[in-house]
Amino acid sequence: MRLVLVGPPGAGKGTQAQFIASNLSIPKISTGDIFRANVSGGTELGKLAKEYMDRGDLVPDEVTIAMVRDRLSEDDAQEGFLLDGFPRNVPQAEILKKMLAEFGVALDIVLELVVDEDEVVRRLAGRRTCSQCGRIWHVDFDDKKDDICDACGGSLYQRDDDKEETVRRRLEVYQEQTAPLVSYYAEEELLVGVDAAGPVEEVTRRAMEALAPHAD
Ligand code: AMP
Repeated sequence: MRLVLVGPPGAGKGTQAQFIASNLSIPKISTGDIFRANVSGGTELGKLAKEYMDRGDLVPDEVTIAMVRDRLSEDDAQEGFLLDGFPRNVPQAEILKKMLAEFGVALDIVLELVVDEDEVVRRLAGRRTCSQCGRIWHVDFDDKKDDICDACGGSLYQRDDDKEETVRRRLEVYQEQTAPLVSYYAEEELLVGVDAAGPVEEVTRRAMEALAPHAD
């Protein structure tokens, strides 16, 4: 299955992407994760991306698109993939469509995680990321009293772009640039909405139910 996950920052995209991709045995391709790995690795791409990420702005399309093209050309993405965080605007969506057509394939479905803005702010403010395995925890929902990852023992940190000022900017950017994608994919008849409120497992269950008719 070739799948795109969309939704505002804090909708639980990263967490759901992890579970959905693993349930479907397809690679999860997260542009945010790839950028963060480049920032930690101190690569040229990371240095360039960091400037935009720290402000909550989008990294320029040509940089992001070249990176996605490389990733989608890898062997493990040939039978399917889940894209998390890409496309992020209509031009990226149009290029993705062309790129897949060149590979002789097309998207099967776009899953939108639907959640209201107050909930999004609450989720982002309490979000902590593991510096070793990248797993995401929440201070309230997971009742995290310490800063240690229960999965691997790594230390948890708050992403710079989860801090309040940047969160506000990311939500603005979402409204301006990413929300129009929802109408774009509705017109393409690829869009399926899933209510993303409530416990993680419940949202995953709803997502898998929505995807079932599109599975092979
Ligand atoms: P995320 O982890 O998806 O919230 O992404 C974190 C940051 O990485 C975003 O705020 C952007 O600065 C950058 N980013 C991730 N995906 C994209 C994309 N498709 N286009 C441009 N910038 C992106």
